Amino acid sequence: MGGDVKSSAGIFAFHGKRESLSPSVERITWERIMNFLDFALTCERLERISGRIEMTQQLSDVLSRLDGDDLRHFVHFVTGKIFPDWSPFKLGIGPNLLYDAITLIVDATRADVIGEINRRGDVGLAVQSILEQKKVGKKSQKGSTIQTALFSRQLDIGSVYDDLERCARLEGRSSQSEKLSIIQNLFQNASPLEAKYLARLLMEDLRIGVGEGTMRDAIALAFSVDPTLVEHAYQALNDLGEVAVLAKRGREALADVHILPFHPVKMMLAQQGSIEQAVAENGAVAAEYKYDGSRFQFHKKGKISRIYSRKLEEVTTALPEVVEILNRATTHDVILDGEVIAIKEGKPLPFQTVLRRFRRKYDIEAMQKEVMMQPYVFDILYLDGTTLIDLPLRERRMHLESALTSCIAPQTVSADISTLEETYRRSLEDGHEGLMLKILSSPYTPGIRGKNWLKIKPGVDTMDLAVIGAEWGEGKRAHVFGSFLLACQDQGDLLAVGKVATGFSEEQLLEVYDILKDHVISESGKEVSLEPFLVFEVGYSEIQASPNYESGYALRFPRFIRMRDDKGISDIETLEGIRERFGRQSSQKTG
Ligand code: AMP
Repeated sequence: MGGDVKSSAGIFAFHGKRESLSPSVERITWERIMNFLDFALTCERLERISGRIEMTQQLSDVLSRLDGDDLRHFVHFVTGKIFPDWSPFKLGIGPNLLYDAITLIVDATRADVIGEINRRGDVGLAVQSILEQKKVGKKSQKGSTIQTALFSRQLDIGSVYDDLERCARLEGRSSQSEKLSIIQNLFQNASPLEAKYLARLLMEDLRIGVGEGTMRDAIALAFSVDPTLVEHAYQALNDLGEVAVLAKRGREALADVHILPFHPVKMMLAQQGSIEQAVAENGAVAAEYKYDGSRFQFHKKGKISRIYSRKLEEVTTALPEVVEILNRATTHDVILDGEVIAIKEGKPLPFQTVLRRFRRKYDIEAMQKEVMMQPYVFDILYLDGTTLIDLPLRERRMHLESALTSCIAPQTVSADISTLEETYRRSLEDGHEGLMLKILSSPYTPGIRGKNWLKIKPGVDTMDLAVIGAEWGEGKRAHVFGSFLLACQDQGDLLAVGKVATGFSEEQLLEVYDILKDHVISESGKEVSLEPFLVFEVGYSEIQASPNYESGYALRFPRFIRMRDDKGISDIETLEGIRERFGRQSSQKTG
């Protein structure tokens, strides 16, 4: 792994107690790289810490001892990721494959393994306990630890990463069995404690409470750099591991970051607002239609063009005509941000039609004939080698207009409320979703949902939330899930905020069940806990303070609006956002 050799023995000796591993194995790698056991021990210590300041301190202590690839992998792993967000790699290992791998290495049936996971309600603890029991069982039979004897190599974070990257690269019919054998081998070489965190890592849910915010602060502390510089570099690079490596090199390296074609950047997000408030606070603002399609990011360098979905997955082959239209619109090297809608007989089609195109793998030509895809570009992040995200919107818009000959989303700049209301009315009349108001002096802030982009749409309040659990339905719905536990995010943790059981058609329940059925982590009575990945947009009448859910809030009359499979867990509502909405709602009531 990149040849990052540490100089002295026991750089992680501060962990004190080590699990009993074969001494010969320990000697081989301990002095050189971060063993996976050290990673697991670090996680174990962090898991016990509840205060953010102490967590930041402890993390920074570890970060400052790491280098190169080890530093990169540690930052990713400890925040529950394997690959950076821009990476095309997806691990593609669900709970089923994990159960199979564990079953293969212990004297237990698959049902025993699943039973233990259900009992514990946590994959990591269950796997740890299964391996511990196995160790004891073998010992009593043969008087020595079979598990230790099975070790053929000591795991380190670099080799674990390599194995997982190998998994992500596998394609085709035999890929599942090859993945299984890689994962089985990893567990065979893991001590129970390592297996606990390995299992959680494979589910990309480490449960130790290290969010991106804590990691940013820890990087700043470890390498004595300004946290705002860390944040800025993260926004541009979309890779905290890389940011840590630059921070280690020093302030200058960190300040000199550029976004790169084909490394997609997180999308800037909008929060709810009103025309009156936007004008009162800012004077003239830029108004654009809010198109109800799918977000895209288009990257072009020389003759190569690629297009990415809102979740930063590459969708170039699914949308050839959109790529062609955009290629025709510019001769420059660019990174563009926009929304693509589907049009039939001059009218926008529902958003689901566009999503279907994003997911399409076959019969793309036939689909192209059916509906016309129209991209609207509203921002430019990169032009001919120059990163533009720090420029104010009004300057980015000038670059956009100079670089593109077509496809630019029309914009009205005005401080006049009736002019902006007229634009809003026209947008709805033309079949679009509402209005976007943008602050002219604002930079492009990837991944940030702030006051610089405001969305205005009619109707109920809605929120995007992660589905983290479900309950089997009753009566004619007994074969599908009938209600769903939803969560918002807070510093990398998912916190429940309520359940939704209304607003679904029978077909939608079937479709949702089909998507979720292979992602059940554990089951208890009628309830299941789910691997979090699916996002629902839900409507609600009010937010209430509630002790019943971890978030401290609950939604009144929650209603399913639609699945947002264009959105990922990082796009869901934050606890802070809910607090703000709650505050606004309370002040509206009293005011
Ligand atoms: P929402 O998904 O409700 O949070 O609304 C924000 C989304 O509206 C963005 O992520 C875009 O996908 C979409 N959108 C549509 N038109 C625009 C526009 N003119 N500017 C920015 N975002 C837009």
